[in-house]
Amino acid sequence: MQLNFIANQPVPSRTGQTLAVLDPSDGQPFDALQRSDARDIDDAVRAARECLDTGWSRLSAAERSRLLMRLSARVAEHADELAALEQRDCGKPTRQARADAAALVRYFEFYAGSCDKLHGETIPYQDGYSVFTWREPHGITGHIIPWNYPMQIFGRSVGGALAAGNVCVVKPAEDACLSLLRVAQLAAEVGFPAGAINIVTGYGHEVGDALARHPGIDHISFTGSPHVGTLIQQVAAERHCPVTLELGGKSPQIVFADADLDAAIPVIINAIVQNAGQTCSAGSRLLIEEAAYEPLLQRLGQAFAALRVGPATMDLDAGPLIRASQLQRVAGFLDEAQAAGITTVAQGTVVAEAPATGFYQAPVLLRDVPVNHRLAQEEVFGPVLAAMRFRDEDHAVELANATKFGLVAGVWTRDGGRQFRMARRVKSGQVFVNNYGAGGGVELPFGGVKSSGYGREKGFEALYGFTTLKTVAVRHG
Ligand code: NAD
Repeated sequence: MQLNFIANQPVPSRTGQTLAVLDPSDGQPFDALQRSDARDIDDAVRAARECLDTGWSRLSAAERSRLLMRLSARVAEHADELAALEQRDCGKPTRQARADAAALVRYFEFYAGSCDKLHGETIPYQDGYSVFTWREPHGITGHIIPWNYPMQIFGRSVGGALAAGNVCVVKPAEDACLSLLRVAQLAAEVGFPAGAINIVTGYGHEVGDALARHPGIDHISFTGSPHVGTLIQQVAAERHCPVTLELGGKSPQIVFADADLDAAIPVIINAIVQNAGQTCSAGSRLLIEEAAYEPLLQRLGQAFAALRVGPATMDLDAGPLIRASQLQRVAGFLDEAQAAGITTVAQGTVVAEAPATGFYQAPVLLRDVPVNHRLAQEEVFGPVLAAMRFRDEDHAVELANATKFGLVAGVWTRDGGRQFRMARRVKSGQVFVNNYGAGGGVELPFGGVKSSGYGREKGFEALYGFTTLKTVAVRHG
């Protein structure tokens, strides 16, 4: 049985209720977590406030840095344990779960190194004045985390907030809490003061909503669906609470005929198959220049047909989706594709060892998807790649920008001038040229434009979002 983690103590919810934790690989319950409500958020905010007012705000930046460094080292020691927890909770293949634990180590390491490098500026002003700025923490930051990459999103969000001097109240997704509850324990073990990291679990519409509404929360960082992002923004607007929103995307991979296809093919596949397509930055649209369209689809079709999906511990190309409703959602998109006469180029296999009660979806490659079809416009959050062709650079830009999202884009071309032109003209928060994702890079600011959200997490840039700027003008004559 999992308990909430408040003021460095495992505590049951005041509701006395629990939720089952399912293993997506077989659909069976194997643990339980607290179904909390607003009273538990209240307890967590009180603990956070006490920490802020006593221990935490008295720590120097260097001391915060040492704590985060110790946490990074402790997570590294427990990386296999954390990976195994998240693997079972989320259905992640072993390599993915281990990569996520390694990323968490790196996030804490990166943000440990940033604490004492975040500073304000002096501003030349009128004679007789000295003017400067301080970067101050918001206070208590609220973090609402989705189920697709719990460790990674916790690392980038909570790591940055702590580095900037905040204390945190975290609401993980009801589908994936286990690794984060363990990380909070590890933080307590390495000396984080009680109340610096608090975790309260339960449903989004209950405890997530309570967190977003709580007047003691000074900043909210949310990653998840556009719909819930809008709800949180509305609730936060009532009390003018700043919000960082990361709401996913419909990211294009744009392949010109002069591209190095040998290099591009494995990256294009990984960008949609990784984590079974349940990745906000998944490369879910494939835009191909006319001359390369048929040859590339043929090669990709062969590769898709060879993809295998199965239980997480088999460590295949992909594991199961997170839950039955996600599987139904993806199946619904595929039914619509069929009804619209969209052609399937190829699809992978769910292996025979996969239990029928698990949530498995074979990767699917679709061709000639009309630009206005839902499959070319909406986030499927499953391993479904929608291919379409373009005539020239202008047409590629038009298609790339033809959704409400703008999170990430990949451009594949050997033409140097075009690389820069495309990077400028595509509307997104990140553009990768002749690669996709640059290996995850914790140093690289990440976030969207348009309905993909606003604000940046990851990299040093995140620290500006987790702080507020105070201008001090001293008149000394
Ligand atoms: P969601 O947005 O409902 O859940 C994300 C987080 O928000 C969870 O912790 C959830 O408990 C919480 N939440 C839900 N309702 C809330 C509310 N009213 N107030 C406060 N918090 C609330 O996402 P989902 O239903 O789990 O997935 C649905 C779709 O969202 C997916 O199919 C996918 O398209 C998208 N999604 C995107 C990301 C991403 O990384 N951008 C992550 C998860 C889901």
